[in-house]
Amino acid sequence: MKSSESPTRPRPHAGVTAIDPYQPGKSAAPGAGKAFKLSSNETPFGPSPLAKEAYRKQVDRLEIYPDGQATALREALAARYGLNPARIVCGAGSDELISLITSAFIEPGDEGIFTRHGFLIYRIAILAAGGVPVVAQEKSFTADVDEILAEVTPKTKIVFLANPNNPTGTYLPFSELKRLAAALPRHVLLIVDAAYAEYVTHNDYSPGLEIALASENVVMTRTFSKIYGLAGLRLGWCYAPLHVCDAINRIRGPFNVSSVAQEVGIAALADTDHVDQAVAHNEAWLTWLEREIIDLGLPVTPSAGNFLLIHFENEAQARAADAYLTSHGLILREVSAYGLPQCLRLTVGLEEANRLVVDTLAAFLKTEGHHSA
Ligand SMILES: *Cc1c(COP(=O)(O)O)cnc(C)c1O
Repeated sequence: MKSSESPTRPRPHAGVTAIDPYQPGKSAAPGAGKAFKLSSNETPFGPSPLAKEAYRKQVDRLEIYPDGQATALREALAARYGLNPARIVCGAGSDELISLITSAFIEPGDEGIFTRHGFLIYRIAILAAGGVPVVAQEKSFTADVDEILAEVTPKTKIVFLANPNNPTGTYLPFSELKRLAAALPRHVLLIVDAAYAEYVTHNDYSPGLEIALASENVVMTRTFSKIYGLAGLRLGWCYAPLHVCDAINRIRGPFNVSSVAQEVGIAALADTDHVDQAVAHNEAWLTWLEREIIDLGLPVTPSAGNFLLIHFENEAQARAADAYLTSHGLILREVSAYGLPQCLRLTVGLEEANRLVVDTLAAFLKTEGHHSA
């Protein structure tokens, strides 16, 4: 039985070693004094006071296992959006649901498609399942339905689309989303990741519920990490065909969503004023930041989310700007892992942070001018 070639220690499968571990945004600016974390698309408002109150209430019940079906939370979500609660599955963040769905539907050799500057978690989930990541080109930093369809083969099992996408902020209008869903072969699952849906104010946008409702191969994922301000708690959900829910429910951990997350999620959903306030703030300051940064001479990709992709002349300038901003307490997101080394991603913050970013970028460009003069 013994082979001289037997490995000296356990080895993960090849897909695992092909993964570049996800690098979260920086969260500190050493030595800068007051720092603003504008690197992970977190809300500057934090969670609703109702959510914080619900969190505190859970402290005396921590010995009790959660409801493994998250029944009350699914019912609250169903009531809020007019959905069938049986078609909702909750997860420890939408990242968990993306991984679970991918491992349920992709087996070694199967292909998963995502777009050129698409969210990095898709590639990781495909490789972790032993699948083959396939990249569809974008046009103007935006997903393109025809480019995606051109990559579909008999081996394709999943198409991932973040709408709006992170880190570009661009989105496909509902008409294009419908065209994509209609054109995909029926055995291909379309995952529409609508993590920023609440922030989008464009009339031609839809998170994709209508098509998820009407098809057997479309899933919409949502999160409490962004506008609800609960990224630290880990809570997401998806709306999926019953057969997809059944597959997820077979492989998820029986208590994958904590009792605290379930109760806090229900309370957060009820505070619609808190969400409305965040949307209004974002709309005003996103527009302001876009205009001010373009006025400085730096191109910005039009964004539908709570963040902006800022383009520099080249990678060296982006790195220098990142270092300069960090030394002034402004933490942005370096996005070379997304194939955008010449860019930085900025999350919309409160007024003080937003104004400081523009002033500091202006000062940075001035020091650059002096260098080259
Ligand atoms: C932030 C983000 C998520 C949310 O992930 P969670 O696991 O729910 O925190 C999902 N998709 C995209 C595109 C994101 O940017």
